[in-house]
Amino acid sequence: MSRRLCYLLFCAYFIVGCASYQPPKAPFANPPVEDQEVRIGREFRREARKKLKLVHHPEVERYVNQVGQRLVSAVGPQPFDYRFFVVENSQLNAFAVPGGSIYIHTGLIERIASTDELAGVLGHEIVHVKGHHAVRMSGGPDPISLLSLLGVFLGGAGPQAALTLGQALAVTRQLSYTRQLEQEADTLGVKYMAGAGYDPQAALSFLKTVDQDRVLNPIEIPPYLMTHPLTPERIAGVESAIRSFALKQPKSESVDPMKKIQTLLRLERHESDAVVAEYEKALGRNPQSAEALQLLGVAHHYNGRWARAVDYLERARSLNPRGPGIDRDLGRAYTQSGEFRLAGAAFERAFAAEPNEPLNYLFAGELYEKESKLPEAVGAYLRAHNLAPLWPAPARHLGIAYGKMNRLGDAYYYLGRSHLLADEDELAITTLERALKSVEPTSSRSQVIREELETIKARKR
Ligand SMILES: [Zn+2]
Repeated sequence: MSRRLCYLLFCAYFIVGCASYQPPKAPFANPPVEDQEVRIGREFRREARKKLKLVHHPEVERYVNQVGQRLVSAVGPQPFDYRFFVVENSQLNAFAVPGGSIYIHTGLIERIASTDELAGVLGHEIVHVKGHHAVRMSGGPDPISLLSLLGVFLGGAGPQAALTLGQALAVTRQLSYTRQLEQEADTLGVKYMAGAGYDPQAALSFLKTVDQDRVLNPIEIPPYLMTHPLTPERIAGVESAIRSFALKQPKSESVDPMKKIQTLLRLERHESDAVVAEYEKALGRNPQSAEALQLLGVAHHYNGRWARAVDYLERARSLNPRGPGIDRDLGRAYTQSGEFRLAGAAFERAFAAEPNEPLNYLFAGELYEKESKLPEAVGAYLRAHNLAPLWPAPARHLGIAYGKMNRLGDAYYYLGRSHLLADEDELAITTLERALKSVEPTSSRSQVIREELETIKARKR
């Protein structure tokens, strides 16, 4: 393959990797109806789960979803559910898929200086989804099929296998149009950020950081810059949007969990020795650093050293009881070390501090299960499930806990729901059919299961 073709394919890969991956061809005047976008999103998620390395640590999953949902609520009612995923990939990138699925690379999360900066990126991507930008970009002379785009996005045999030259050209031709949409995403993005209580200036500071990287390392241009070309106009556009909306810096957030999340991502990559060395050094410089103490506690927990984890976390809590999720961390560490009474007390404090945080109930449920308090465990998981209805983890835990209680109908029902939330339709059908056999045929649960089965089967047709 010629170098030029390679370059074009490479380019197309990044452009498509932008927020805007494209649905099947649809005449511009007649965009696909909403449920087509939802369907594309679901198909994409299913493939993405197979082909991308997603981070499933509960704290990380909740972090991006919590920031994302806060932005979505500032946008107003939406025709589809938004979901946010973290991809283990060192390249600085983020992209959105029609129908509300937004993917952030770990390489981007590790480059942000604050959660507000993440909100800037997510706000921008939400506008691409909300504005149906992928659909608005379609209708070019050489439309790209959904399948080839799935291939491009997800790698697979590599972009070369997925795109023909003509298709690559078609994508590159759409670049100028993309810039227009990028501007719209920037402008509305900062508006939603401010509406959700994030500092809109962070959108600017993130762009400037990325720009600095580009100057320092012109060889390795991050995908985010290929898809979001940084121009003086773009930065000026964000500045003027902040001015014109008279957006103000909100009162500072009490605690920013960003550093903890970045540390968890390193631990997920098995860099715990480096993390421990780094924060012990930091602690040496400043023995009163509650942050270093908490992150050391988190790292030791990760390595199964519960007593050490408890020791560091207690010291962190005595210095800063408002450390991000510190009582939850303590609750988990005490659960593992078998000190259930102390674990329970830590979770009670966590509930009082953050009553709407599903992670608190998910982890408390694990404590109650260990204590063989199954009804309490079910209660905690139900609470987590209600607070985060699109998150598969609480539904899965509910299924297991009900199973231990020998309530098979409920067990299969929630396991089926967890498969459904993870886009595993076939498994969801078999599990829900088992649930149906185990519940009273005249019960309302039976009715709900039948309706859910109907919906899943209908969309397969
Ligand atoms: Zn964009």
